Amino acid sequence: MAVYIVLLGPPGAGKGTQAEKISEVYHLTHVSTGDLFRENIRENTELGKKAREYTDNGLLVPDEVTIAMVEDRLKKEDCKNGALLDGFPRTIKQAEALDEMLEKSFGAKVTIVPCIDVDQDALVARISGRRMCKNGHVFHVVTKQPKVEGVCDVCGEPLYQRADDNEETVKTRLNAYNETTSKLVDYYSPKGVLKTVDGNMSITDVTKAIFAAIDEAI
Ligand code: ADP
Repeated sequence: MAVYIVLLGPPGAGKGTQAEKISEVYHLTHVSTGDLFRENIRENTELGKKAREYTDNGLLVPDEVTIAMVEDRLKKEDCKNGALLDGFPRTIKQAEALDEMLEKSFGAKVTIVPCIDVDQDALVARISGRRMCKNGHVFHVVTKQPKVEGVCDVCGEPLYQRADDNEETVKTRLNAYNETTSKLVDYYSPKGVLKTVDGNMSITDVTKAIFAAIDEAI
């Protein structure tokens, strides 16, 4: 049975960092909507052009665009055993669409939803120090420095700061999370798949807590 993990948590909670570890250990393809949008923006595709006006301003890209993009991605060969979803769903409509597409196309359900919970004040600091490479590997200038400054440890690509990782845009993104995405807790909780993890702990302790939740669910 395919395994679908939905990683929830506010921007800066460490979803990308944890996703790298989860996908490696459980052999699941990491599907990050943020990375998919950034890739499309870099390549200047039609989808990228549509998404850019939202992502640059910290706003959610419209549901129809996002849902269609994820559905296409989940149908690819590398997702045949499931996927680790990071950044999707972010609205109730997306969550309903995900349930529907899993059921219809794959006869499956969301397996587990680890939700990384972090104090709001810590998030802005985390995000403003964040650096990443074009393949989505994430570092931090203080808490997760690369071996060579400005270069990705994993793939050797240069590190950069995301266009939306500035204080102003971060506030808009946190608002979108608090007003819309945090409601997903109430969507998943009654289904018995939600597992809240304390994201204020060290990166390794957060990983351990998430692995424990996944092991219990699969
Ligand atoms: P974050 O660090 O905020 O979790 P992401 O890399 O996941 O960042 O997403 C960056 C931006 O991409 C979001 O601010 C939003 O504009 C857009 N985005 C990503 N996922 C979605 C989604 N599921 N629905 C709508 N917009 C999304």
